[in-house]
Amino acid sequence: MDRREAALLQAVDRLNEEMIDFAARLVAEPSTLGNEASVLQVMEQQMRDLGYPPRRVGVDPVALAGHPGFAPVPWDYQGRYNLAAVRPADGAGGKSALFNGHLDVVSEQPIEGWRRDPYCPEIEQGWLYGRGAGDMKAGVAAIVYALAAVDRAGLGLAAPVTLEVVIEEECSGNGALACLAAGYDAEAVLIPEPFGPTILTSQVGVCWFKVQVKGVPKHALDTGGGVNAIEKCYPLIAALRELERSLNAEPHPAFPGISHPFNFNLGVLKGGDWPSTVPAFAEFHGRLGFPPGLSYEDIRALVERALDQTAQHDPWLAAHRPSLEFYGFRSQGHQVPMELEALRLLGRCHQDLSGSPAAEFHSTATTDLRAFVHYGRGQATCFGPLAENIHASNERVNLQSVLHTARTYALFLSRWCGLVD
Ligand SMILES: [Zn+2]
Repeated sequence: MDRREAALLQAVDRLNEEMIDFAARLVAEPSTLGNEASVLQVMEQQMRDLGYPPRRVGVDPVALAGHPGFAPVPWDYQGRYNLAAVRPADGAGGKSALFNGHLDVVSEQPIEGWRRDPYCPEIEQGWLYGRGAGDMKAGVAAIVYALAAVDRAGLGLAAPVTLEVVIEEECSGNGALACLAAGYDAEAVLIPEPFGPTILTSQVGVCWFKVQVKGVPKHALDTGGGVNAIEKCYPLIAALRELERSLNAEPHPAFPGISHPFNFNLGVLKGGDWPSTVPAFAEFHGRLGFPPGLSYEDIRALVERALDQTAQHDPWLAAHRPSLEFYGFRSQGHQVPMELEALRLLGRCHQDLSGSPAAEFHSTATTDLRAFVHYGRGQATCFGPLAENIHASNERVNLQSVLHTARTYALFLSRWCGLVD
């Protein structure tokens, strides 16, 4: 590590308190789907204050409709946007980088499970608590301050760096895709998802869908005279479990050591409106993970076939076909080699700072990485802080690991983009 790198790391350390304070301010703004306005305001102001005035990048479903990565959704994009800023190069000869993070969070419910208000961030024994603290507002703070440290240290970079924060990572990926389609891309793309100091080389594909089933209402004194729509969902759900089993039947080379990477989650189930009435309507929503190499069209066809064959064996369902709608995630999986130059360099930066090599990580969830891997031009991976209870009660992120993420990313900038005085 040379003198300039040491100065850069000192700048990160001096900014640590400010970085954690900023992460907490992001956590204090609830930002579930459709409610991102206030967190975006905080973010926009912060980027301006640090000298990276961002552009608002909207999501235009009409313009993106023909893009293979676009996920049609039933909600609209009025007044909702992503933020992107490019810090221009101070010299030439380096390689460009892009930091991406998402500001949307999943619901804090059930609130009873929390020991504190999920939107009143609190620090206790080196952990920051709150919804989104780990996934992934602390990571967003880390990328902002890794870049800010370059300027605070009075240094420059020999290549441009893009700072991008997006919406809808948790449901469609349309935020990151819109930024990519607007031209924001780089030779290395880094996302501080809270999987710890590891290098992500593979992730599963994910699709979402909704199934609606009709029944016949009847007073409960004669249940046999009606058709129970909720109970008609059971065999359909069982068929999807069977599809899940077949996807996991053989170990997959992109997920070594993981016996069941492709999960079906029955996430929503509703129907009926009265205990003494046979329910005439039911619906369920599912999320299915699938292997890299299988296209979205392939998995969609498998889901359609599983439900279709099941319906054929039930006289009611055969005559009253369940409706199947795909919305939200239509994300293909991917795998990249650990030997990619950017991934190797990131691993070396981690090792120089921590003394130990970075482990390879295989994700059984999807992230916005896929947009960059499938449709971008760069080498992309996730490396981030250590968090616990993401998508659950009492979410928290380890503050030491947030600082380590920022230090590693700052060092990466110096070696990938190149420092100039
Ligand atoms: Zn996330």
